[in-house]
Amino acid sequence: MKKGKLTGYRGRIINPISPTEVEDIRDGILVVDIAGKIVSCGPYKGDGPPFKKGTVPFDKVVDLRRHLIIPGLVDCHLHLPQLDCRGKHGATLLDWLKHYIFPAEMAFRDLRVVDDVGKRFFKKLVLNGTTTAGIYVTVHEKATDHAFKLAKACGIRAVMGKVMMDQNAPEGLKEETRWSLKQSEMLSEKWHCTSGGRLRYAFTPRFAPTCSMDLLKEVGKLAQKTGAYVQSHIAETAEENEEVKRIYPKLPDAFSVFEESGCAGPKTILGHAIYMSDDEYRRMAETGTKIAHCPTSNFFLKSGWMPAERVESAGVTYGLGTDVGAGTSMSLFTEMRHADYTQLRASVVPAKALYLGTLGGAKTLSMEDEIGNFAPGKCADFLVLDIRQVDYHYRLSELTTDEVLSLLMYRGDGRVVLDAYVGGKKLDVDALKIDRRVPHGFHF
Ligand SMILES: [Zn+2]
Repeated sequence: MKKGKLTGYRGRIINPISPTEVEDIRDGILVVDIAGKIVSCGPYKGDGPPFKKGTVPFDKVVDLRRHLIIPGLVDCHLHLPQLDCRGKHGATLLDWLKHYIFPAEMAFRDLRVVDDVGKRFFKKLVLNGTTTAGIYVTVHEKATDHAFKLAKACGIRAVMGKVMMDQNAPEGLKEETRWSLKQSEMLSEKWHCTSGGRLRYAFTPRFAPTCSMDLLKEVGKLAQKTGAYVQSHIAETAEENEEVKRIYPKLPDAFSVFEESGCAGPKTILGHAIYMSDDEYRRMAETGTKIAHCPTSNFFLKSGWMPAERVESAGVTYGLGTDVGAGTSMSLFTEMRHADYTQLRASVVPAKALYLGTLGGAKTLSMEDEIGNFAPGKCADFLVLDIRQVDYHYRLSELTTDEVLSLLMYRGDGRVVLDAYVGGKKLDVDALKIDRRVPHGFHF
């Protein structure tokens, strides 16, 4: 064993196993190899080199004994250009789109705006402990290309794509169908599975009303051909479903637009999925289509809430999404508590909340073999947390598993995140070279 080859991170480790099962190792060690893969995760046995028989060797130990180690958080759905639209109230959804969202997206014609918003966006993601994200950019090819460059520089894991809209979109954001497809295909060729697989492309038709069936059918073919993802929105409001029915009168329901076009499938992630029948959920599960559940956004826009019990009993996989900018927070911890608040009958218990924000998100993005928990062989994406940032009098050693997780879920935010690692590498937000200094404490 060569010196410096394996690094052990010693601290309290909480590792999600399933929606109901979580492993809590009070004095644990996460051993990571030089390639950034997890070698082992288990109790610390009090030894560095030379090693006792039966223990996992490591060459260097990072002492994090006062801290907590959990897997990196996975945000399955958010919009990069909408960063500064958060918390801007609109009287109605249309009013909000018209006054804030569309102008913010149109401004992405200017790469200086993309650079400014993009750098702050990725910085805030990292500071909030999000190590993997499903991101929508805008219809602009150059803006999307630049966003990929920023994601590459910041070291985050991202599934990202250029928004596609070829009908029912405002002037300035509406695209010509062939042009939209061509640019998306070029971006996919350039970025899908680059940076060691860290960056992936998602064909991103915004939602059924703004996309023609011609566009969607070609997206289905392209996704099949390239192995890239498809991300879109579905059934966010009852009015949207009415609109889909008006545009596609021959199709029985909202999900059939995705089935008919060939866009449904295991690498398709649909945001919201609130107003859907049991039959639609069943077909989603059958096709392996995933849901990005975005409760904060659903609160903000008064859209309703995703019926988690029905979604789960149909067997649909789902993870959490902040849906920034309708979501007001960049923190997955906020999303965890809102996932609980929106379910009026059954609680989302803390272990399940952690699962949804980590392994559940990984499954939603078809990355469960690579990230989401600390199984050997997966990439070392993890966070170092300080629970005292919730309240200084808490002592990590005195808290039960449930107490730690519920404090994170109900009171956690970016303050608790000390460091974020992706593939064994500590993310450095200063690598983005942001001109304006963001004052400490203003990153939520
Ligand atoms: Zn969205």
